[in-house]
Amino acid sequence: MKKLLLLLAAVLPLFSCSMLQNINTERVMTGGSKVVQALGVTNDQMKSYVTSSVAQLDAAATVLPASNAYSKRLARITSGLTKVDDTPLNFKVYKQDEVNAFACADGSVRVYTGLMDIMSDNEILGVIGHEVGHVAMEHTMNAYKYALYTSAAFDVIASTGNLAAALTDSVLGQLGQSMIEARYSRKQETEADDFGYSFLKAAGVNPWYMASAFEQLQKAAGESGAAPSSVTEMFSSHPNTASRIERMSAKCTADGFTRPE
Ligand SMILES: [Zn+2]
Repeated sequence: MKKLLLLLAAVLPLFSCSMLQNINTERVMTGGSKVVQALGVTNDQMKSYVTSSVAQLDAAATVLPASNAYSKRLARITSGLTKVDDTPLNFKVYKQDEVNAFACADGSVRVYTGLMDIMSDNEILGVIGHEVGHVAMEHTMNAYKYALYTSAAFDVIASTGNLAAALTDSVLGQLGQSMIEARYSRKQETEADDFGYSFLKAAGVNPWYMASAFEQLQKAAGESGAAPSSVTEMFSSHPNTASRIERMSAKCTADGFTRPE
């Protein structure tokens, strides 16, 4: 698993300049970015606000202690995975039946017990690869800026120029919630899937587990009968899950990987 660090360095250049062809939402995000930039806020400062938002989410959730079996399992799965690019990663388990996982621009990754219950270790690693892809390609940072830009607090921020003062706990909490509910574009999801695929490959894990992770999501959605609310980020989903499974499977076949039993 130590290989993961090296792999991130290898995978990143393939994706880092892919934000340029934008759909409307992304264009608005870019607009948000510019306004935030005009306030003199660096990405590092923005990451510290993200960290405060994550603290609010953690406080509202049931975070399992490191001694818990789920936490130990996640620590084992992510062992050696300490940063993406220059962003340090941290992992926690939320005790919640929802099938979900999300990552934030500051490198915080949260995985729900509901997801861990239905997936094997390698499938969970595939999901994490996907989520970390959103961090590496700054999708999460742009989504956070977009949430800030479109929040009620932003008018105050824009007129006073005082971002820090406007970011009350309540605003930070709302922005945090927007990270859980982030809806990425089709293009961003496809990029994150490809990142997850390369991520597994470079970790020495058969990338078929990316396809089977999606199959577990699909099955979970089918059984509960209501996908989007209980199966959140990974399912956001244009591209629909079936076509994502098909795409990942075709890549595996083209790359000569045999599907594991
Ligand atoms: Zn995603």
